[in-house]
Amino acid sequence: MESNESEPFSEKLRVPEALTFDDVLLRPKESRVEPDAADVSTKVTKNVDLQIPILSAAMDTVTEAGMAIGMAREGGLGVLHRNMDTAAMEASIIQVKRADELVIRRENVVTASPDQTVDDVDAMMEQKGVSGAPVVDDDDTVLGIISGTDIRPYLEVGENDEVREAMTDEVVTAAEDVSARDALELMYDHKIERVPIVDDEDRLVGLLTMQGILARRENENAARDADGRLRVGAAVGPFEEERAVAADEAGADVLFIDCAHAHNLNVLDSAEAITESVDADVVVGNVGTKEAAEACVDFADGIKVGIGPGSICTTRVVSGAGMPQITAVAEVADVASQQDVPVIADGGIRYSGDAIKAIAAGADAVMLGSYFAGTDEAPGRVITMNGKKYKQYRGMGSVGAMQSGGGERYLKEENDEDYVPEGVEAATPYTGTLASELHQLVGGMQSGMGYVGAETIPGFKRRAEFVRVSAAGQTEGHPHDVMITDEAPNYSPNE
Ligand code: 5GP
Repeated sequence: MESNESEPFSEKLRVPEALTFDDVLLRPKESRVEPDAADVSTKVTKNVDLQIPILSAAMDTVTEAGMAIGMAREGGLGVLHRNMDTAAMEASIIQVKRADELVIRRENVVTASPDQTVDDVDAMMEQKGVSGAPVVDDDDTVLGIISGTDIRPYLEVGENDEVREAMTDEVVTAAEDVSARDALELMYDHKIERVPIVDDEDRLVGLLTMQGILARRENENAARDADGRLRVGAAVGPFEEERAVAADEAGADVLFIDCAHAHNLNVLDSAEAITESVDADVVVGNVGTKEAAEACVDFADGIKVGIGPGSICTTRVVSGAGMPQITAVAEVADVASQQDVPVIADGGIRYSGDAIKAIAAGADAVMLGSYFAGTDEAPGRVITMNGKKYKQYRGMGSVGAMQSGGGERYLKEENDEDYVPEGVEAATPYTGTLASELHQLVGGMQSGMGYVGAETIPGFKRRAEFVRVSAAGQTEGHPHDVMITDEAPNYSPNE
């Protein structure tokens, strides 16, 4: 909408103020909330709940299947980037969905045949990393089970003996609808570690292992769908309806319309059409104003906010456009909260304090790129420079990422030299496991909730108040007048 044509240009300089993370602090309040009692569970879209309000960015140096599995196991959500073709995306979604499946499906079960030699099966089990295998005949009927204990030398089994002679043939099986609890009881009662799952005709359809059940118990907070499978998100381009349908059919829980400026009306039309052709929830982004939120709030299942706050992003300097993130989140949340549409604050978060400030401004969850790019779970290898370890981190609008196919988010040209990038390629310090990074991030956010005296995310959003910080206040807020001698796990002065 154009402004009033008769309005003097100088009126444009009566500008509203827009604030970002460093401009504000949470006002401490009366509290009885101990930080570790603060409940950080949240809604990331209308139909998807998470145990922690955290997403990993859809970037090719941040989220592929390994990161998505790690995030979901910790209770958050990984969003697969879209610099991979549709087939690779489908395979990644399926990999996440199957990662923690209670029942290992038939096609993934390592089986032995009765006429294989013991030696052969031993080598096969070692190669596949399993310690036992159901023995099946040609039509998949379960005949027995063979494990390391059946073929130990002291049992006088010869290397060339057939499996049928060495296997345990009184095999305990269970039906497809067996619960984890019943399966575990069966295992304890019979002192066994695996139970083949069979159909009505005793044909193998899957395998339950003690290890699998116990691993599932360790991740009680994991983000799971109604069938108990890990949750996963996938980024799709605004005009990629086919890809969106493919992601939906492969099992993605949430689709993220991945656009640097979703208030482009063509993008919104296409995003709306996508919501109508998929079952998964659809998050629309990125936006940064209340007008943009109004334009998508009726059809979006979630709205993602961030025009230019990212660590590797040059949108604001290249285009002159952007919205400081705290104000952007608050504007969008004003609109979205009226209709119970969750808001995700995406980009610019360097510390746990920034993440909880974004929630105080109205976000339901936060998305981070650089914070996770240095972890083991991020794609890419560790590089060493001047004795320090790093991993690559690049903007999806950087020349390198656009060359690998990610340019549609920004303005991609046919020839490399015609790119107008909106991001840079960088290196970020190697930080170890995702679990330890998340521990610091979530712990810091809970601390913020403790200072404000709120036990839940919705309660915190209502109760939190900001104070404005001056430049002197910012300096005071960081370590000052000292030389840091030991690195803290959650603070780096160079950030
Ligand atoms: P970070 O957590 O590193 O500050 O920001 C990550 C976010 O930056 C991503 O989730 C995405 O929204 C945004 N982003 C990723 N690549 C680029 C880019 O090349 N340019 C811009 N403008 N934003 C980017």
